[in-house]
Amino acid sequence: KKVADRYLKRETLGEGTYGVVYKAIDTETGQTVAIKKIRLGKQKEGVNFTALREIKLLKELKHPNIIELIDAFPHKGNLHLVFEFMETDLEAIIRDRNIFLSQADIKSYIQMTLKGLAFCHKKWVLHRDMKPNNLLIGPDGQLKLADFGLARIFGSPDRRFTNQVFARWYRAPELLFGAKQYGAGVDVWAAGCIFAELLLRAPFMPGETDIDQLGRIFNIFGTPTRAQWPDLEYLPDYVPYDASAPKPLRERFPQASEDALDLLSKMFTYDPRARISVQQALEHRYFSSAPLPTDPAKLPRPA
Ligand code: ADP
Repeated sequence: KKVADRYLKRETLGEGTYGVVYKAIDTETGQTVAIKKIRLGKQKEGVNFTALREIKLLKELKHPNIIELIDAFPHKGNLHLVFEFMETDLEAIIRDRNIFLSQADIKSYIQMTLKGLAFCHKKWVLHRDMKPNNLLIGPDGQLKLADFGLARIFGSPDRRFTNQVFARWYRAPELLFGAKQYGAGVDVWAAGCIFAELLLRAPFMPGETDIDQLGRIFNIFGTPTRAQWPDLEYLPDYVPYDASAPKPLRERFPQASEDALDLLSKMFTYDPRARISVQQALEHRYFSSAPLPTDPAKLPRPA
């Protein structure tokens, strides 16, 4: 069945945050694509024009580490976003016990993640929903960030339509404290969680509720002090808590290099203003010291 006279619909790939994703063939180019069908709710006029305008901006975001938005069109009251099709994602790689990840491989994955983020942050676009299954891996080994900017356009992911509640695990403390104004730091925190997950081969802080999530953060990094995070008490969901001391990160990452731990701790700075930026992270000596990041084409692939 053809959609919008151009895309030949194939199988469903899965249910995502915003709706169903299916595989299709672009009959104009012969290219395999992934089409994300976004439910627009009860908008009488069909597609919201603000969303369409913002989507147009996303089409301009072209970078080797950003998944390309090829096309966007309304169809039967749903918005369809057409992306390049990707075989696998970082979550599958982390979980695949047959794949050995060297320190150089991990460095390569996190560097590609940060390069994609840096490009978008320079253009003032935040991701806001970073997680390993949003980091897609292309046939050339390139890691590409998916779903850029969608959280802002379509609002916080609607949990009614998805069983994937684990985006919480990557949520920055300012979001957990209800910050309405937040910046690029939310993506840095999430990238830190993904870095940690690559090192551990397991989720770093898998909170079961938002409260539990904060509890896990406090448990590892200690409760934030006033000196560390002066603006915290002004956040909407701030409540006083009993102070607790941080634990050395080294205990959690016995195998990691000093450079890796130094960068990791800077990505987990409580105060978003003091947190390392993506650009600074890319300039960290972790990326210039041995072992150098693996060439993407030489990264391990699932069987
Ligand atoms: P979520 O919003 O929960 O992150 P998505 O909507 O991104 O989920 O994706 C839902 C499903 O579609 C997932 O199984 C994902 O692997 C697949 N998918 C999403 N984008 C692509 C793509 N560009 N190429 C191939 N598969 C994709």
